[in-house]
Amino acid sequence: MRSVDVLIIGSGPAGLAAAIYTGRAMRSTVVCERDYMSTGQIVESDCIDNYPGLPNIEGYELGEKFKAHAQAYGTEFIEDEVIKIEKSANGSFVIKFKSDNLLSVKAIIYAAGASHRKLGIDGEFALRGAGVSYCAVCDGAFFKDKTTVVIGGGDTALGDALLLSKICKQVFVIYRGEKLRAAKSLQNKANDTVNIDIIYNAIPTSFNGDKHLSSISLKNTKTGKTAELNAEGAFIAIGSNPNSQILKGLVELDKSGYVVADETGKTSVSGIFVAGDVRTKALRQVVTAVSDGANAAISAENYINQIIK
Ligand code: NAP
Repeated sequence: MRSVDVLIIGSGPAGLAAAIYTGRAMRSTVVCERDYMSTGQIVESDCIDNYPGLPNIEGYELGEKFKAHAQAYGTEFIEDEVIKIEKSANGSFVIKFKSDNLLSVKAIIYAAGASHRKLGIDGEFALRGAGVSYCAVCDGAFFKDKTTVVIGGGDTALGDALLLSKICKQVFVIYRGEKLRAAKSLQNKANDTVNIDIIYNAIPTSFNGDKHLSSISLKNTKTGKTAELNAEGAFIAIGSNPNSQILKGLVELDKSGYVVADETGKTSVSGIFVAGDVRTKALRQVVTAVSDGANAAISAENYINQIIK
């Protein structure tokens, strides 16, 4: 069986920052990613305006920079899915991949991020890719001069609405509450944009259309009144769930499934470290993900030095 020092699961900002640090520490490093072409979900961000030193950078560009930086330190990338992690008596881990390949590693940095939350309503699955989307950056251009809706009230929802307002004729934000949770700066921009309308106290109950989305059924959360809104595109931006299923029963997770760890990235299992959005933390941003990656890599390096002694 092939052996490497560190396996990093996930190739978003956290995983790639960790790879830069393990690479610089001369640790043989493999980054494994299931989707997203080895730069993580960051490719979906149209504009990242709060990463120090690189204002207004596109998510794709920043992701590519992170990847190139990790590659410069010898990181190997594989596209596969980890299906089993087993700790051996000597402290190392045996990793089984979907491809049936096996890998022996001294330490694991788990940086698998989080996945789009689903509404679970009629038409969501059937019309996915036919008007229903989870990524405005990826699919917004298909809706030039059309009417679209964005569901959610966080930074993603308002960021998506602002992006779509430049492409679409009209954008409705459908928000279930009364007080948006998005940053005030985004709220102000959305309020100042003539073709964005925010519908408060509303939830979608179905996406309708034959081969393509044509309308959305809405319900007022206060009055119970229903209505139908014509729209060709719907962007669901209601947050994410942690991609931690593979760790269930192996390391401690909180009740929402996030891996319990402080900023050192040390989990309840020595030798397994966590970084990025999948960790219990207050702020999930690119800048905190890369900090996590650095911390987890240093913790992994210290761990490997200890077990080698
Ligand atoms: P989020 O902050 O969790 O917001 C999710 C939104 O969806 C909330 O408004 C929530 O409503 C609503 N929602 C959740 N479940 C729903 C359901 N079943 N039906 C209808 N609405 C539902 O998620 P996010 O906007 O993706 O942001 C996640 C993290 O990434 C945040 O920390 C955010 O600051 C960060 N982020 C940062 C940037 C940036 O810096 N440029 C960009 C995007 C995201 P309630 O408000 O009623 O709970």
